[in-house]
Amino acid sequence: MDIFHDNAMLAGVRQMLGAFAKQYIRPVAMKHDREESMPWALMKQAQAFGMTQTAVVDGRKALTGKDDEEGANKPKSQSRLGVVGSEELAYGCAGVCLAIGGSGLAASPVARMGTEEQKQEFRRLLKGDDEHGHIKVAAMALSEPSTGSDISGLSTTARPDDDHFVINGHKQWITNGQSAAAYVVWAQTDPSAGRAGVRGFLVARGTPGLIPGRKEHKLGIRASETAQVHFEDCRVHKDMMLGIGASSEGLGDTKKMLDSTRPMVGAQAVGIARAAFDYLVERVQGGTIHGTALKQHQHVAFELAEMEMEIQAARALVHKSAWMADHGQDNVRMASIAKAYGAKVAQDVTARALTLLGEEALEPDHPVEKWYRDAKIYDIFEGTGQIQRRIIARSILGVNAT
Ligand SMILES: Cc1cc2nc3c(=O)[nH]c(=O)nc-3n(C[C@H](O)[C@H](O)[C@H](O)COP(=O)(O)OP(=O)(O)OC[C@H]3O[C@@H](n4cnc5c(N)ncnc54)[C@H](O)[C@@H]3O)c2cc1C
Repeated sequence: MDIFHDNAMLAGVRQMLGAFAKQYIRPVAMKHDREESMPWALMKQAQAFGMTQTAVVDGRKALTGKDDEEGANKPKSQSRLGVVGSEELAYGCAGVCLAIGGSGLAASPVARMGTEEQKQEFRRLLKGDDEHGHIKVAAMALSEPSTGSDISGLSTTARPDDDHFVINGHKQWITNGQSAAAYVVWAQTDPSAGRAGVRGFLVARGTPGLIPGRKEHKLGIRASETAQVHFEDCRVHKDMMLGIGASSEGLGDTKKMLDSTRPMVGAQAVGIARAAFDYLVERVQGGTIHGTALKQHQHVAFELAEMEMEIQAARALVHKSAWMADHGQDNVRMASIAKAYGAKVAQDVTARALTLLGEEALEPDHPVEKWYRDAKIYDIFEGTGQIQRRIIARSILGVNAT
């Protein structure tokens, strides 16, 4: 146990998922990166290990077999579990980590804002295998071709029609967008209400008017599917609107959702940085870079020290932001700090590793080349680096975050 695992449960989860990453994820990571394919067999295996697609809705019990502590004074552990697990899986491969955990993006608003019936429906939609024998996954569709960072500019609409809403619009860069069995789609229900009119809807695959679109080819995290999703007169019953009644804050709900997922994204970035760092340390220990005993070189030693400082700092920030969430504290600023700094460190460490290894690391299929590509994505999704800095600055200056 250490400062990051102050109870046996967190330490146990790190150990278990760390072993899973080394034994099962690493051996298939390059293949799925090269093929840009989802690791369906491994996802099924992960499910058998307790990493279910509904884990976020089911709570801590899904992974540990124990309920989270009841009672107002007892801290929860779900956020810390999330960051510990995310770092370990991303240490194996960030793309595979996202393939295994990507449904959590959709599960998060269902867990936070869903009624018991909606949670049951989410579980029902993800139960069993699909027609290809694959486990079922979920997608969270917020971003649009013209609206990524500025989510108040959503153009997808949900028009009330008796006891239904009719959804029209196009979503882009959606994780699991092509394969999902369940979608949480964000749409404007009342343009005159502005931000307060935005709502999330739980929509089942196969609902007429829900059309999975083109798969994107991308720089990194290629084992995770990213695709367009189209809604054309897609009728959804009003009971499937999340945040029904007074509990909804419209667009504010999406921001809270991102506050809960950003520490995990920061943790994944730490996992990538650690992967590149460990690889480099092993090579330096072996003295095989360009045939020279590199651990004797002060420049190399200082580079390693710099990377270690960055990784330790990023991990501490990630854990602080998750600890705050588990203790019911407002972690908006810390979640953005953890995500932005984690992404910065992943990019810096992988770039330094690439430079130190030289031309060999530029070869396709070299793990450091892959980690370098994966790291960049962490500066873009779940709010870009600039957007995180905007949130942090607004929080420092007391300006209302929009
Ligand atoms: C692999 C991957 C998976 C994804 N998965 C999902 C998903 O599952 N669901 C989903 O809804 N979305 C998903 N996204 C979308 C992602 O969240 C957006 O790409 C991201 O929010 C950035 O939006 P954008 O690409 O439209 O960039 P834009 O918003 O167009 O920004 C372009 C540039 O302008 C900068 N910028 C924009 N506004 C400001 C500002 N106010 N101040 C300073 N700079 C600014 C940005 O930082 C960026 O550098 C995913 C993206 C990727 C790459």
